[in-house]
Amino acid sequence: MANIIALVGRPNVGKSTLFNRLLQKKEAIVDSISGVTRDRHYGKSDWNGIDFTVIDTGGYITGSEDIFEGEIRKQVQLAIEEASAIVFLVDVTEGVTDMDYEVANLLRRTTKPVFLVVNKVDNAMLENDALEFYSLGFDKYYTIAGMTGSGTGDLLDDIVNIFKDENYVDPFEGLPRVTIVGRPNVGKSTLTNALLENERNIVTDISGTTRDSIETLYDKFGYKFVLIDTAGIRKKTKVNENIEFYSVMRSIRSIEDSDVVVLLVDATQGWEKQDMNILYLAQKSRKGIVIVVNKWDLVSKETNTLKHFEHNIRTKIAPFTDVPIIFVSALTKQRVYKTVEYIMRVYENRNRKIKTSKLNEIMLPIIEATPPPSIKGKYIKIKYCTQLPTHTPQFAFFANLPQYIKEPYKRFIENQLRKNFDFTGVPIEVYFRQK
Ligand code: GDP
Ligand code: GDP
Repeated sequence: MANIIALVGRPNVGKSTLFNRLLQKKEAIVDSISGVTRDRHYGKSDWNGIDFTVIDTGGYITGSEDIFEGEIRKQVQLAIEEASAIVFLVDVTEGVTDMDYEVANLLRRTTKPVFLVVNKVDNAMLENDALEFYSLGFDKYYTIAGMTGSGTGDLLDDIVNIFKDENYVDPFEGLPRVTIVGRPNVGKSTLTNALLENERNIVTDISGTTRDSIETLYDKFGYKFVLIDTAGIRKKTKVNENIEFYSVMRSIRSIEDSDVVVLLVDATQGWEKQDMNILYLAQKSRKGIVIVVNKWDLVSKETNTLKHFEHNIRTKIAPFTDVPIIFVSALTKQRVYKTVEYIMRVYENRNRKIKTSKLNEIMLPIIEATPPPSIKGKYIKIKYCTQLPTHTPQFAFFANLPQYIKEPYKRFIENQLRKNFDFTGVPIEVYFRQK
């Protein structure tokens, strides 16, 4: 299950304000795409220990009235297709508008949970004004003030509840889940075909021909994983300007849903902003990552071409550089098998559990040789460390004065962990805690 909340509603109801509130000061990804007036925003957050992604789909709205309706239709459509919960925002100070009725109508067609949220209810007196929103035909609404955050807790309680879907049965339970993501035309379908080696997925140059996303079992040469294929991206995209955003939406969904993300990059185009966004998202979601540079057959190779290319990517993705980068041709199938090996290795790394005794045996001498710098004459002593019982690698280092340990030392510790244990391709967390 991908936990994605999409915010929809007409302009000025407070979508971006609520978006920022939901992120709780966490970093948002701003996606600037030429040809549209507003940036879209998406970001990761959590509530009651449940992670989710929030998307402000409001970005499509341009000023003029006649394109406006079409745009809002697209926005809602996008939310219906890609989100797992939809927050439909309205504004108590404006009351119910025609546009709200339009949006409500569009949303009636989905079976996905829709939360009607009356915003700008800044004080108790406005609660009464909210009653008129019953006319939109929903059983229930929430009143909030996005600006102060009042009411958002109750809303989030109910939203994350639906993410705990106990009825869902995964037919591939226990197998690594892998997704191939990347910009349009990097070769996702071609690589999928090369991996699965059958004719079911027809790849052509004409947009609109690839099929919907689907989960397929890879079971060859002793390796087994589930490939979550996002290649269907172009099918639903009728409007050209939105193709990049659609691809981002698809990426978000499949990243959420997977253990290892294969980030496909086009060798003829190099590393671009969009690639960085996807990497960032995978990293924030603590997924395993393999960077695969595709179409290597099209690059004229001189001495060190590969080295330069690789160095360039590593420079751009710093400080998280401990990621496999492989150069393939999905078309000629060159090194495609190598990709599978890396996927499995990264998957193993992500599940790696290090015994506390082993961890201390390795890390304590390193820490002793290079302790955290003392601050204001106070010596910081790290006494022991342990890997936390989390799904992904996270470590706690216990110290007398953890609050004085700064970012550079944290990075030093992370690097030492990476040097001594194989965590290639896996984001790891290091915490310093009071002993
Ligand atoms: P969007 O176009 O839907 O993204 O709306 P914005 O988030 O940009 O908000 C539109 C306006 O409503 C801004 O001036 C916000 O400051 C204001 N606003 C947002 N939330 C609240 C709220 O809870 N109370 C009040 N009084 N104003 C709000
Ligand atoms: P997607 O949009 O990411 O699924 O990309 P496709 O798999 O549809 O590929 C887009 C285009 O790039 C198609 O014309 C492919 O034949 C071509 N392509 C994909 N991989 C390679 C490759 O390794 N080498 C070359 N030369 N072309 C490729």
